Amino acid sequence: MRRPLVAANWKMHGSCPRVQAYLEALLPRVDGSSAEVVVCVPFPLLPIAAMIASGSPVAIGAQNCHWQEEGPFTGEVAPPMLAELGVAWVIVGHSERRRFFGETDETARQRAEGGQRAGLSVIYCLGETLEERERGATLDVLDRQSGFLGGLDPAHLAVAYEPVWAIGTGRNATPEQAQEAHAFLRERLATSFGNAGGAVRILYGGSVTPANAAALLAQRDVDGALVGGASLDVEGFSAIIRSAPGHVRG
Ligand code: PEP
Repeated sequence: MRRPLVAANWKMHGSCPRVQAYLEALLPRVDGSSAEVVVCVPFPLLPIAAMIASGSPVAIGAQNCHWQEEGPFTGEVAPPMLAELGVAWVIVGHSERRRFFGETDETARQRAEGGQRAGLSVIYCLGETLEERERGATLDVLDRQSGFLGGLDPAHLAVAYEPVWAIGTGRNATPEQAQEAHAFLRERLATSFGNAGGAVRILYGGSVTPANAAALLAQRDVDGALVGGASLDVEGFSAIIRSAPGHVRG
């Protein structure tokens, strides 16, 4: 069974007062929501976010983690450090990490394993570039990238299909383009995980807004959204959460 999952990715934005005001406004708005809600903020904001959201239906997520439990990895953050704070989720393999910080399929996979070992649930991002879409390679890319999911724990995994050309560009995939990619990924999850793959949520990410969320989330295999820019505004993010279908799928 798949309950809609709507996650905010604040990227490198925010401050302690801002996350406090945001969560204080968000919490009453998500009460009774059909969707599970996660807010992923930069590392320094995690303690205050986790403290404010504690005991509420909103879970807090990090935007990256290392795969080791500790060690000489200056500037990295170990998954148990996140778990200790009350962080429940971590994003791995985001295209901005792949593009600007040398993240690969292999390291994304390792980070996902490390996160799950520490008890975190993982939002695993994948998706094609514009060049790959234009030369008709989208499904080949998704096939390669999703091949790295095998062996992860499907019970603590969500996959985010994020076409790179749609992230932060204001150009979202059409609902049909999203559904095609998600249906393909659904099959790949079934191959990797058998029946358990049917419970893994596949989120769409890429310029989701209150205006386009309902049409995207209505697609059969779109189980939620990973929202970047539009998640910074609590009203807009709340509207996207309200766009989620009121039923579970499965
Ligand atoms: C993201 O950061 O994961 C994302 C989808 O960004 P945006 O919604 O701004 O395109």
